Amino acid sequence: MTSLPESTESVADVACTVCGCVCDDLTLHLAQGKLVQADRACSLALPWFEELDRHRPPAAKIDGDAIDYAEGIAYAAKVLASSRSPLIYGLSRSSTEGQREAVALAEKLGATIDTTASICHGPSIMAIQTAGESTCSLGEIRQRADLVIFWGVDPQTTHPRHLERYSADPASEFLPRGRTDRTLVVIDTKPTATSDVADVFIQVDKEFDFELIWKLRQSLRNDNAALQDDTIRQLHELMVGCKYGVIFFGLGIAQQSLGHLTVDGLLRLVAELNDHTRFVARRMRIPGDVSGADNVLIWQTGYPFSVNFALGYPRYNPGEFSANEMLERGDVDCALVVGSESLIGFSDAAMQRLAEIPTIVLDYPHATPTWSPTVQFTSAIYGYHTIGTAYRMDDIPIPLRKVTTSEYPTDAEILAAITQAL
Ligand code: SF4
Repeated sequence: MTSLPESTESVADVACTVCGCVCDDLTLHLAQGKLVQADRACSLALPWFEELDRHRPPAAKIDGDAIDYAEGIAYAAKVLASSRSPLIYGLSRSSTEGQREAVALAEKLGATIDTTASICHGPSIMAIQTAGESTCSLGEIRQRADLVIFWGVDPQTTHPRHLERYSADPASEFLPRGRTDRTLVVIDTKPTATSDVADVFIQVDKEFDFELIWKLRQSLRNDNAALQDDTIRQLHELMVGCKYGVIFFGLGIAQQSLGHLTVDGLLRLVAELNDHTRFVARRMRIPGDVSGADNVLIWQTGYPFSVNFALGYPRYNPGEFSANEMLERGDVDCALVVGSESLIGFSDAAMQRLAEIPTIVLDYPHATPTWSPTVQFTSAIYGYHTIGTAYRMDDIPIPLRKVTTSEYPTDAEILAAITQAL
């Protein structure tokens, strides 16, 4: 371990919001307010933390020129007030406070509000609305799950501490030998870093998952034709033979063509497995607080994403009110984006439209939009510059600590100021 200077301050139990694991056991060491070491930060988190103090952009800019913060607020309010169909988008690395203010602003404007769920696990959320979900916390999985299936997801790459903290390694009262007491299965279209450490790897053809799920459902009805297939028999025996099974599923399933039907089938399979043993399913959420965005939108509007307030009350319709599709169709004449990294995954046509209309971006000091927004604000980072709340991928709210001070306001403060200025 590197020896730290004596003047170093250490802050323990810091939560990381880089991915949906929201690991809350990091210790950050700071010298003169600057980060010098981050204990237990993984290969994804470390570069993110290292960038935090390196940039000090102006608090506000208009067309790329630094301006006074108050002037930026007044200008943003003017731009939004003159819009007939504004869009508010992003929010997946925000916090409950910022998400709540974004909904209030959307309601006041009669805007559409959408989150990164609409280009990630939107199909899974739609499937949960039709099929329900047999679910649990990651803590329960850590304690009890002796069969862990990763389906269409590679956590060793996307959530590097998932296996260590929740799904493979921890020893518990029910699994005293940790990894030895668990069977790890990976189902994917190609070998991955996670399949390399799994006990069983089942390689499926692209878009074959739906068929595999339905054959497994058949096998639970003792259908001999399904059980004659070696892969189905192997999975069937593992599933009905475990004491507590979990399927973690990712975008490899949700983002297929008709992904909502594939996830619907998967959730029904998991529900039916509960006739034989305890079984649960969990989505692998990617950004740190995308689950928080779902939760806040649900409390405040009744719907998780793609919500439109144009008629004065919330309406939900993925596709019609999804940010990417609205931009592609030219249905939006102004956009406010909270976290420009949330635009990764937008189509070229949607990005082209964003470059044509007035845009307001709230971004962190180290983030840079790929186009020039009309108005740009720099916001403090929850869990580093300020306190907040992030929802882990299992919908458990995790408090975020303040590690150091910042001259930047939070996105909640910026959004509240814009709402007041309207
Ligand atoms: S696994 Fe995710 S939440 Fe945990 S330290 Fe790594 S990036 Fe952060």
